[in-house]
Amino acid sequence: MNLAWAVAGGVAGLVAGAMLRGPVFRLSVARGEAERAACARCATPLHRWLVIRCGHCGGSLGRPATLELITAAVLALLLGRFAAQPDVIAFAFLGVLGVALSAIDVAVNRLPDRLTLPAIPLLVGLLGVAAVIGHSGGALVRALLGGLALGGCFLLLALVRPGQLGGGDIKLAVLVGLALGWLGWPILIAGAALGFLLAGIAGLVLLALRRATLRTQLCFGPYLLAGALIGMLAAGGAGARIG
Ligand SMILES: [Zn+2]
Repeated sequence: MNLAWAVAGGVAGLVAGAMLRGPVFRLSVARGEAERAACARCATPLHRWLVIRCGHCGGSLGRPATLELITAAVLALLLGRFAAQPDVIAFAFLGVLGVALSAIDVAVNRLPDRLTLPAIPLLVGLLGVAAVIGHSGGALVRALLGGLALGGCFLLLALVRPGQLGGGDIKLAVLVGLALGWLGWPILIAGAALGFLLAGIAGLVLLALRRATLRTQLCFGPYLLAGALIGMLAAGGAGARIG
């Protein structure tokens, strides 16, 4: 763990987390509903995406400091682990996006296409740049295959057990597969398996606490992302060396 990079990641995460407030607030709506484009307190229209509070009444968008602190922790871990490696930007991007997606998934149980779809070519591009800088073409090919493989697995699961995994989960699986595939097949398998394990444990805890029943639809995105984060941290610098 590189301490200087971790501190820089923490500071960058505080800023990035504040910038997530507007988009997370806007996109935290049920499927089929229009985006929230007005303050929840005074109904003043929000004209810009990157705002942290209402310009009219000063009301905060979302719970204050939550996104900032979580993003700071995620970026501190990722930047501390990957430091000056060519792939650090790609992983930081997925880390920040993952916080936004998790917050929306927890709030309204969906992963909006507006975030997941453009993120796929963007992540491929960032990994492509890292492959050129680090001369790691093999890792890039593996990342693309990893995205296809994990996305394909989720598509199959969604077809076999409809209602459990949604389209958003499949697109998120492509993103996670890209990042974990870059780091190697064992990391991809371990990270994805860890996601299912964490979701299973969370489901059992909620059942035990009577906060959920067997029919309750639990969001899956945060667990897949948490599994991926642990896999990425465990992998360390493997990506730059292979390929
Ligand atoms: Zn307001």
